[in-house]
Amino acid sequence: MTYRGRFAPSPTGPLHFGSLVAAVGSWLCARQAGGQWLVRMEDIDPPREVPGSARDILATLPAFGLVADGPVLFQSTRRAAYDAAFEQLRAAGEVFPCWCSRSDLAATGGLHRDGHCIAPPTDDRPPAWRLRVPDAEIAFDDALQGPQRQNLREVAGDFVIRRVEGYYAYQLACVVDDAFQDITEVARGADLLDSTPRQIHLQRVLGLPTPTYLHLPLACDAEGRKLSKSAGAGAVDPADPMPALRRALAFLGLPHDPPAATPAELLSATSRCFNRNDLARRSSHPDG
Ligand code: GLU
Repeated sequence: MTYRGRFAPSPTGPLHFGSLVAAVGSWLCARQAGGQWLVRMEDIDPPREVPGSARDILATLPAFGLVADGPVLFQSTRRAAYDAAFEQLRAAGEVFPCWCSRSDLAATGGLHRDGHCIAPPTDDRPPAWRLRVPDAEIAFDDALQGPQRQNLREVAGDFVIRRVEGYYAYQLACVVDDAFQDITEVARGADLLDSTPRQIHLQRVLGLPTPTYLHLPLACDAEGRKLSKSAGAGAVDPADPMPALRRALAFLGLPHDPPAATPAELLSATSRCFNRNDLARRSSHPDG
């Protein structure tokens, strides 16, 4: 099977250093495997979206030599597919409506009783929809971080897959689209390592294939928190891409000083001697 990887940014701000690292890491894995690298814009959360940032991210990637091997998939166009997956789950009895507030849930330690809402409504508020999760461990071998296991009930509980406002949650949209795009390996930041068991469970209940996973180290601030665009991390500069690209390669533990005049040359020189086993594993401060 042809390797197909992807980079799936959310349009919550311009491309910043942490997302550049994920983009470059996933691109290198795809190139080394002789496969394809796709871009998916995860624009399913209008309240969190920063206007113009999807366009901005998509204009910035090619300035860093990162050109997708196919059209960009916009999740905002995929509502019908998420509706179909949701109906499949509802017909199979895998989801239940939930009106609990955060404080209702806090009072029960975040748990539902037997897969049912503990605070049924007294008015006609719309519910969120949660997936019933089994009291079971999901195990997988991360290609970089090694063997992982997680008890879904303890860590995630019955998680929301459709929000009160009617928006689908990231977990559902991601799983539906990884399958739709025939993704064979998901290479992304280690902040999503603990989402992966939820996604594997969803793949199983929806009858979708499970790709392999590779979680890249995360660029953190001095306090060890993820550098993120929503937390105001600086955007990378598409007008001067080489310094940030060399820094991203160094952060990934890769040689960053091959002679190259352009980002495309630097990426292609790196991909020629790239070995995924050389990737750094630990999240850290980019300059630390
Ligand atoms: N859209 C997610 C983010 O920007 C990444 C999703 C993924 O790679 O699965 O954090």
